[in-house]
Amino acid sequence: MPSVISTDVLIVGAGVAGLWLNARLRRQGFSTVLVESRTLGGAQTVKSQGIIHGGAKYALHGALTGASEAIADMPRRWREALAGTGELDLTGVRLLSEAHYLWSPGTLAGNLTSFFASKAVRGRVDQVKGDQLPPALQDPRFKGKVYRLAELVVDVPSLIERLAELGGDGLLSGQNIEPVFANEELIGLRIDGREIHAQRIVFSAGAGNAELLASAGISVPAQQLRPLHMVLVKGPSLKPLYAHCLGGGPKPRITVTTHPAANGEWVWYLGGDIAEADGVARTPAEQIAVAQKELGNLLPWVDLSQAQWATLRVNRAEPAQSGLVRPDNAFLADQGRLLVGWPTKLALAPDFSDRVITALHNDGIQPGNAPVLPEFVRPPLAQTPWEQLLP
Ligand SMILES: Cc1cc2nc3c(=O)[nH]c(=O)nc-3n(C[C@H](O)[C@H](O)[C@H](O)COP(=O)(O)OP(=O)(O)OC[C@H]3O[C@@H](n4cnc5c(N)ncnc54)[C@H](O)[C@@H]3O)c2cc1C
Repeated sequence: MPSVISTDVLIVGAGVAGLWLNARLRRQGFSTVLVESRTLGGAQTVKSQGIIHGGAKYALHGALTGASEAIADMPRRWREALAGTGELDLTGVRLLSEAHYLWSPGTLAGNLTSFFASKAVRGRVDQVKGDQLPPALQDPRFKGKVYRLAELVVDVPSLIERLAELGGDGLLSGQNIEPVFANEELIGLRIDGREIHAQRIVFSAGAGNAELLASAGISVPAQQLRPLHMVLVKGPSLKPLYAHCLGGGPKPRITVTTHPAANGEWVWYLGGDIAEADGVARTPAEQIAVAQKELGNLLPWVDLSQAQWATLRVNRAEPAQSGLVRPDNAFLADQGRLLVGWPTKLALAPDFSDRVITALHNDGIQPGNAPVLPEFVRPPLAQTPWEQLLP
């Protein structure tokens, strides 16, 4: 039986929340171990669209919501990290698009009036025309308006790879995780029989948090899952498009992002309203038929005759709240030695790590342990949904 390891912070779950936190803590001199039961980033993170929101989408409601406020600083923080001058050095991570766009295919003046009246977007949205339009919209038949948002889109696989690199020797593949108590206080975890003690333990396991809490006999915070039914299209004639396409309602009708496939083609990944409630109720074949019709109406000049189609069902994991209202910020519950949370968005990973670091400061936790770690079995990097579903 290997001897007990003592680390400053033991993190469970290597999605963007755990990976970002782990890298930041290590940069600040804390010793860390990050345990992952499956693949790095393979649950929600690699299935996300990679948009680093600044809150503009939420201003579509017209009201200046908390979401618009809290998230407004995230694009700046990510840009700095990508440039190597921020809280993490993410140079080398691929930026898919310098901007995300808002695309109004028809006359939706009412909707957009309230949008532009919102303080969250004022001064940060420019209309684009002609050769400034996203490549997929550059067609003489295109009508409608397009606005450039101060948001960016990152290539999530390269982000995961870089964050894993910054994780150094602390990434541990572990399946069987049991709590270790002393005097009724959680002091560590037994991972596949190896005991690891820590000053603080963080559960950042996404949808896995509920089970981890239950196994430690803890009932709060409660978690909710929000199902989505995404659509993937891959084809030789697709061109890049990163845009929220507006419908009549407060949510984007479709949110399109574009991702590089290994064979050199582009993949369009479709979320937004199409992937929510009605979309979840549809069978994959029905969902593909709806997406084909939508794209045919919106982008009739795009040749989809050779495109391959697939759908992906995935749950978003968040803290439970009444009425399935979306959380405004990253969420962290501080329960003594245990911290549990969900970033609620990829974009909010920096906010999630801020909350953990603040909790450490408030509790006077300093870098202290400097364990020499044994050579851990490292969890593999996740595969993208497009390589899995449309190889
Ligand atoms: C389809 C989709 C599109 C999205 N698009 C965007 C977007 O464009 N922009 C944005 O900001 N956000 C987006 N999001 C939200 C974003 O992806 C998530 O909020 C974020 O990735 C959550 O990160 P996480 O680290 O908390 O969770 P996850 O990525 O789910 O990671 C949790 C990790 O914990 C591991 N784990 C679970 N249980 C255990 C256990 N018992 N022991 C060890 N490890 C365990 C899992 O294997 C997993 O690797 C999207 C989400 C979805 C589903």
